[in-house]
Amino acid sequence: MGSSHVTKHKSRIFFVSILLCAGVASAADKPQAFTRADLASANSLLEKALADTTAYQLVESLTTEVGPRPAGSPGDKAAIAWGLREMQRLGFSNVHTVPAVVPHWASMPSEFSVLAPWPQTMPVLALGGSVGTGSEGIEADAVMVKDLAALAALPAGAVKDRIVFFSNRMERTRDGSGYGKAVAVRATGPSAAGALGAVGVVIRSISTSSNRLPHTGALRYAADKPRIPALALSNPDADALERQFASNKPVRLRIRSSSRDLPPMESANVAGEIPGSDLAQEIVILGAHLDSWDPGVGAIDDGAGVGIVMGVAKAIKDLGLKPRRTIRVLLFANEEFGTTGSKAYVESLGSAAANHVLGLEADFGAGPVWRLASRVEAADLPAVDQIFRALAPLKLVRGNNEGAGGADLEGLAKLGMPILEPTLDGTLYFDTHHTANDTMSQVDPAALRQSVAAYAVSAWLGAQYSGSWQKVMTPKPPRR
Ligand SMILES: [Zn+2]
Repeated sequence: MGSSHVTKHKSRIFFVSILLCAGVASAADKPQAFTRADLASANSLLEKALADTTAYQLVESLTTEVGPRPAGSPGDKAAIAWGLREMQRLGFSNVHTVPAVVPHWASMPSEFSVLAPWPQTMPVLALGGSVGTGSEGIEADAVMVKDLAALAALPAGAVKDRIVFFSNRMERTRDGSGYGKAVAVRATGPSAAGALGAVGVVIRSISTSSNRLPHTGALRYAADKPRIPALALSNPDADALERQFASNKPVRLRIRSSSRDLPPMESANVAGEIPGSDLAQEIVILGAHLDSWDPGVGAIDDGAGVGIVMGVAKAIKDLGLKPRRTIRVLLFANEEFGTTGSKAYVESLGSAAANHVLGLEADFGAGPVWRLASRVEAADLPAVDQIFRALAPLKLVRGNNEGAGGADLEGLAKLGMPILEPTLDGTLYFDTHHTANDTMSQVDPAALRQSVAAYAVSAWLGAQYSGSWQKVMTPKPPRR
């Protein structure tokens, strides 16, 4: 990404110097993306955010006073009340909810034992959405495969009446790409195995940790395939299970879970604003999600994101800055179990979706931010370059123009909404993501303040842009 960007940058300088030589225009005649005053405010905002503890206090408050908040649970309801109360307390305008119906799944204690060759009991978590086993549990011989491709390559009947163990290990990366590669097993492994006649699935957690806590996360049953129970083992226990398989003796397992689906529930996205001025009808979205899984208290996923986006709006307000475009802080319902909150939000907009001119999302832990990526039309790239320069004190990396923002912005991005992505550092994120360890102890106050600073400058300048953010109609290049 670095080299192509340098080339682009050089060619632009070259282009400007041609114009200067020809006397057609000077750099001073060119419309600037931001006024001096806006850039000065960006700098004040950056300094203020680096010293501001609002975000940290919000994460503490959400995780202490609400705690776990899976879609449809009492915690979900409490989180909505918390969001409304805190947005009002911070002085946001137009504080309101946007209703969303969410699936409701009861995560219940689950058990896992190796019966042969060497009996062992290991801690497990049910994958989000998993059906239960019935009170008697399921006992079956097991088949170990690395991933979905290895499952598909097995001879016919190989997993019939068996429990399938997916052994693949996720790779640690800063940008989360390791998760993207590994997570298909969790999402679609249960249906893939069920379609082949398996009676249960156990996965190696989608995790980079070496401790013994399993990671949950949503599975996605195919509508037309048998639904079989699915559990996750921690990395060290998955290693131990692999060693049992390495004995070449038959491996026999017993699983039990009383997890189950409950009727869908009413939930809501929570929104609050800093009203715009001359371009008030244009909306800059600052999104995070309010729900969490329930083994932990959702401090990094996504209490931190909630703290960041609310902290940004509070810092802008505290400095008395009046944005041109409306900055809308949006706490989405149910990201974790199918993004039904953001889908309901987009549906509620109808044609007003076109007013959403720029989106930023914080849903990748508690920071620090290490990169500024984007997804904008070429005409708006110079503005992103200038935002990047305003972030210089944070010493970020200039990312490419294939930023995704996050799962809750997908619907609006599909409609062409441009994305600014201050990228949170995910190196350690998957050590605790979706585990009992997702607690305040994972949130570094300094990293969180730095993240607020990066998001604040990006959102503020995004709202002040002197051009108009173009809908992104250029297709994304295929993933490498
Ligand atoms: Zn999340």
